[in-house]
Amino acid sequence: MKLDVDALRYLSKDDFRVLTAVEMGMRNHEIVPAELVDRIAGLKHGGTYKVLKNLLKHKLVHHDSSKYDGFRLTYLGYDFLAIKALVNRGVVAAVGRQIGVGKESDIFEVAAEDGTIMVMKLHRLGRVSFRAVKSKRDYLKHRSSYNWLYLSRLAALKEYAFMKALGEHGFPVPDAVDCNRHCVVMSLVQGYPLVQVKQLQNPDEVLETIVGLVVRLAEHGLIHCDFNEFNIMIDDNEQVTMIDFPQMVSVSHRNAKMYFDRDVECIFKFFSKRFNLSYQESEDEYDETEADVEEIERPSFSSIAKTTGFLDKELSASGFTRKDQDDIEKFIEGGTEQKDTTSSDDEELEDQEHTHIEATDDSVAENIDFLDLEDQKQEDAAASCNVSIQNED
Ligand code: ADP
Ligand code: MG
Repeated sequence: MKLDVDALRYLSKDDFRVLTAVEMGMRNHEIVPAELVDRIAGLKHGGTYKVLKNLLKHKLVHHDSSKYDGFRLTYLGYDFLAIKALVNRGVVAAVGRQIGVGKESDIFEVAAEDGTIMVMKLHRLGRVSFRAVKSKRDYLKHRSSYNWLYLSRLAALKEYAFMKALGEHGFPVPDAVDCNRHCVVMSLVQGYPLVQVKQLQNPDEVLETIVGLVVRLAEHGLIHCDFNEFNIMIDDNEQVTMIDFPQMVSVSHRNAKMYFDRDVECIFKFFSKRFNLSYQESEDEYDETEADVEEIERPSFSSIAKTTGFLDKELSASGFTRKDQDDIEKFIEGGTEQKDTTSSDDEELEDQEHTHIEATDDSVAENIDFLDLEDQKQEDAAASCNVSIQNED
């Protein structure tokens, strides 16, 4: 189980044409009927079926004949479509090792043509479970018409749009490089997640910086909602970078205060435990005996001058709309509870009793091979699908 991009170099134009046809069919079919794939791809002389066999061999599609003869994309198939697009755009030239695996993402090092190392985050919403307020079963029952392709794409788009807008407003975030489908490419952050940091020269300064970020976010109308030691990176100079934005919400969200307080609480708790910093348990509780360490004031949500909608323009400039935000909020932690309505997509769902969310798929990457590219392969690749990938050494 790995992200083996080797096959990417051997896939032909027709392979990608059929793979794209399956993707298109999945807009309204969980399993795309083979003849529909054939119709969309439009290859002559039954070419589609031969190509499907090849895609199946490479585990880029999954065959399902339980109801009818049909196909769906695997994660790997979707990964290939995204990576291919990024390669064609000249953004990515090589895929390297996996540097992170989250519940809902896989993170890889990638290289640009000039050798710059960047980070590629592949969103996998629906892989294990949602960070949903509701249980997975509930989710599956009510909302499975949103398939993982759609949700993962939305999560990536949201992450990209927020990263870009936050960066433009001077927040310490990775540079948002590009985004395609469920994939975000960003700059590599030097340093380590805070959770791995055992010692700091100036823990109270770092804490102050981090708390300052939570406040500044709120002033810009935003709450991170997953602000913890896993999503804060620290470099050797104790500079802070925040990452991981798919669950951010607006300060106008009805649970905004709770999410804000939870983010703050998380940070204070971690610092107090790991670096022995004292802090006020709550706004009115204050332990005098620990006051020898400089107190860092706990921000209160109500006292922050918040600017709602401030980033809306920038976000929609990246193609992330209010509707997208509403959609994604229904599924990830920080989001609203499911609406109790019979909206059109609920009705649609009832018609689609066979829909389901991907469980762990055999194509999900767990570790990765470096691309070791021989010249011959490289030429083949360039000829067949415009992949030009540099040597890895
Ligand atoms: P998840 O949503 O799965 O938690 P994250 O965006 O938090 O994904 O990334 C998971 C891990 O990958 C991080 O804790 C960090 O170690 C690493 N990582 C993510 N983005 C970067 C980056 N831009 N630079 C360096 N490491 C990163
Ligand atoms: Mg994270």
